Amino acid sequence: MATFEQLGLPSEIIKTLDQAGFTEPSSIQVRAIPFLLDSEADLIALAQTGTGKTAAFGLPILCKTEGKGKEPTTLILCPTRELCMQITKDLQGFARGWKGISVVSVYGGQSMSIQINSLKKGADIVVGTPGRIHDLIRRKALVLKNVERVVLDEADEMLDMGFKEDLDAILEQTPETKQTLLFSATISKSVYSIASDYMKEPEEISVGEKNKGADNVTHEYYVTANQNKFEALKRILSSLPNVYGIVFCRTKKQTQEVADNLQQAGYNTESLHGDISQNVRTSIMNRFKRGRITLLAATDVAARGIDVNNLTHIINYNLPDQNGLYTHRSGRTGRAQKSGISISIVAPNETGRIKQLENLVGKTFEYKKIPSGEEVMEIKFNSFLEEMKNIDTSEFGYDHYFSEAVSKLKHLKK
Ligand code: ADP
Ligand code: MG
Repeated sequence: MATFEQLGLPSEIIKTLDQAGFTEPSSIQVRAIPFLLDSEADLIALAQTGTGKTAAFGLPILCKTEGKGKEPTTLILCPTRELCMQITKDLQGFARGWKGISVVSVYGGQSMSIQINSLKKGADIVVGTPGRIHDLIRRKALVLKNVERVVLDEADEMLDMGFKEDLDAILEQTPETKQTLLFSATISKSVYSIASDYMKEPEEISVGEKNKGADNVTHEYYVTANQNKFEALKRILSSLPNVYGIVFCRTKKQTQEVADNLQQAGYNTESLHGDISQNVRTSIMNRFKRGRITLLAATDVAARGIDVNNLTHIINYNLPDQNGLYTHRSGRTGRAQKSGISISIVAPNETGRIKQLENLVGKTFEYKKIPSGEEVMEIKFNSFLEEMKNIDTSEFGYDHYFSEAVSKLKHLKK
């Protein structure tokens, strides 16, 4: 087993990693970190979601960055604001106590002047979405002439989301001599088109099978007529007492409806989609990360790339429009060596798509029957009993609760 020391990282950073619970490097980190510490060549790195790609590029970049510069030497581009905030937070965490490196994030939806001010204070690493970065360049608030390396994170997503023109314009402003790094979970024609447009004889590192889903995610599906879908969702959720996950929906309207209905059914739910203002989105994400919100109803765009630890389930209330998005959705669970379940609720005429997804992910999807009312009841009852059993009663004992419980529940007996 390789260690972070063997990869060539300095002891200060290893200490920080240790505190963050990073005891040993993931496969992509083992491959990418020594390469990047050593080489100025361009790199395409492919690895499944949740395998630690941020640290794979972030750590060597921090090592190569001299702190306290005015203009950035590293530019990291990623498709969404949530991802942008997350990468920034990760890098700031890794950089704690290391050369005073400043990492600034810029993305749409947040006030331009706040971002311009933080850039003015000096940024060594800028993390941003292509639209906003392009805007800041046009306003001359961001100067890229000192850029030594550019990271394209979730590169093919950026193209799918229509950022091609912004990318062209941004990369045009960066020095010819820079190093370009492309990180992605999926490999598609667009990845290779980026490589041929923007990269010079890139090295390719690929971990795991290309386009395969994360290893520790299992897949299940339920079949129901569309008009019964919400009821099916409720039953499935009732059978999962400690569910903590994301319910993916296809449209903003449907996302909102599902969230509203789940709230009415008593769940801690919020919705995340493009019509919700940035401030509210940030607050929702924070509460979701802390577990205050246990079910997030979200569109693909809003939830792309988000990294919340310990999610137990991903629920596809609708299958995504394109099969490729399924891998991105299911990769929100089973992160950092944890296991997770990706559930799809499909109409009878959609079972053919399940076959396609099985081929894509390279795993069999388990067919599950929607639990009956009685089964839900039994699961809830057992989970309640488990919870009771876990209470430490060593001091006072259970005894007198038994008679009380029996008398309170007597009327239920038929
Ligand atoms: P990816 O970009 O490949 O989808 P991330 O970089 O977002 O994955 O990492 C997924 C999760 O795994 C994050 O919560 C991260 O903190 C954690 N992680 C990454 N590398 C390690 C490691 N070596 N040991 C423990 N946890 C890690
Ligand atoms: Mg990532």
